Amino acid sequence: MSAPAQDAALHALCEQLRNIRQQAEIMGLFIGDRELLDCAHCGLLEDVLIGGRLVTYQAGAVDAADSGLRFAAADDDNFVCPQCGAVIAGAFFV
Ligand SMILES: [Zn+2]
Repeated sequence: MSAPAQDAALHALCEQLRNIRQQAEIMGLFIGDRELLDCAHCGLLEDVLIGGRLVTYQAGAVDAADSGLRFAAADDDNFVCPQCGAVIAGAFFV
């Protein structure tokens, strides 16, 4: 395979991976590209169910039921807590 053909194949593969990642996020799955978030201000925690779905619950909650709240990306490095509005740095894996 020539270098341009390899570049084209690699580009197509990267595009497929981007699409798969986007679909997983739309489905509410945690893609594992960062540490789970934990708000030190209000105690809202992220966790991942055995099926891969991302959930949040309050620290110390007896049943740890999903709150339905999700941390939102503030920018490329930070997230906003949906419960108290605190900005939390995301620890991304390189
Ligand atoms: Zn919070």
